[in-house]
Amino acid sequence: MPTQTTSRPVAPPSVPEANGASHRFDGVDLQALAQRIGTPLHAYSANAIRQRIGELKAALDGLDAIICYAVKANANLAILQLMAQAGVGADIVSVGELRRALNAGIPAGRIVFSGVGKSADEIAGALNVGILRFNVESLDELHTLQRLAKTQEVTARAAVRINPDVDAQTHAKISTGKSENKFGVSIDEARRWFAGRKQLTHVQLDGLHVHIGSQILSVEPFRLALQRVAAFWRELEQAGHPIASIDVGGGLGVCYREGTDQPVAAADYVAVIREALAGFRGRLLLEPGRYLVAEAGVLLTRVIRVKPGIERSFLILDAAMNDLLRPSLYDAWHDIVPVVDAARPRVTYDVVGPVCETGDTFARARALPECSAGDLLLIKATGAYGTSMASTYNSRPLAAEVLLDQGRYAVVRRRQHFEDMIAGEQPARHWETT
Ligand SMILES: *Cc1c(COP(=O)(O)O)cnc(C)c1O
Repeated sequence: MPTQTTSRPVAPPSVPEANGASHRFDGVDLQALAQRIGTPLHAYSANAIRQRIGELKAALDGLDAIICYAVKANANLAILQLMAQAGVGADIVSVGELRRALNAGIPAGRIVFSGVGKSADEIAGALNVGILRFNVESLDELHTLQRLAKTQEVTARAAVRINPDVDAQTHAKISTGKSENKFGVSIDEARRWFAGRKQLTHVQLDGLHVHIGSQILSVEPFRLALQRVAAFWRELEQAGHPIASIDVGGGLGVCYREGTDQPVAAADYVAVIREALAGFRGRLLLEPGRYLVAEAGVLLTRVIRVKPGIERSFLILDAAMNDLLRPSLYDAWHDIVPVVDAARPRVTYDVVGPVCETGDTFARARALPECSAGDLLLIKATGAYGTSMASTYNSRPLAAEVLLDQGRYAVVRRRQHFEDMIAGEQPARHWETT
């Protein structure tokens, strides 16, 4: 396990040499890889992921802490397997994610279940395999958990997800810790749950959970949220409700825009946790998603054609919003690097995909080396919320995914075949009535 504590472990892909020298990521020549596998193609560096895990583990040294990777960031089985091999658990939000995590070798005892809409079937399924903990988000869910645990004659371990009413200073669509958001319950409500704890014969309510949002680039929102959680933990202890675990959620931001985004280093993040929760003797849980995988991924795509426009030219790629939704959904910035001779003159483009939506735009007015049809481009930091949000919109097959590891690569998802895409569909031949 690497023990570096720098926040930039594997050099992310950069502009190639002016002589057009080959462009490597985790030791693999990306130009040759694109040639071999075709584009669009998601490539992930195993070493970049391992080193992020190592950094976080190093920062947590001496604490009783477990890292539960937020599966929704990237649910590919090969990525989950890397997590399992590093002793990392999982934070899941559905039974589909539970099955993926178990399938990849993550033990149930390292799996926590979050989410506002866990169905009774999902709760029963998770109880059945004996997951570590439920992060409960409403009183109705708590009652459902009690009822189902009683039926199964087991005791469920639960944490209440606190909505600390903190502004994460991130995009509105990925902010989750304000009182107007659907997530968690207020401290007032949580206090009533603990007061009624005796009625919970089959739920051991002894944990607190907080997750305030995603792509957070400052420690202050974390500090504020954890201070509120800490004050509540102390109050509960005094009232005779011992707290065995505090789950601090995820949300640690990454660099999407070089020179602008300045992510918090793992050590600084953990220092805030240590300080805010000083004196806490129970177990800490962390749920990073993006931090572990975003910068470990690149999307390889080729220029289909360059189309002159009135304002500026459109660079039309073979990747689209169905392969990477973040720019369309959140107006998110991703650095784009043409794998071409950097000495080419710079041209300002709108970088778009082929999908029939104006929102299918990766970048507006972006200055890039002049490109032409067939050129290879990298869209960077696509390892999180890329393939996990992918769709087949416009009947475009899901892109291939490869894992890179020190000069070698393995296909970890083959490009979807047309037959896979239409599997399960059929003409309306068998009509029935209800
Ligand atoms: C999405 C999510 C995470 C992970 O968020 P990142 O910003 O990817 O670190 C962690 N915990 C919960 C409850 C989540 O919903």
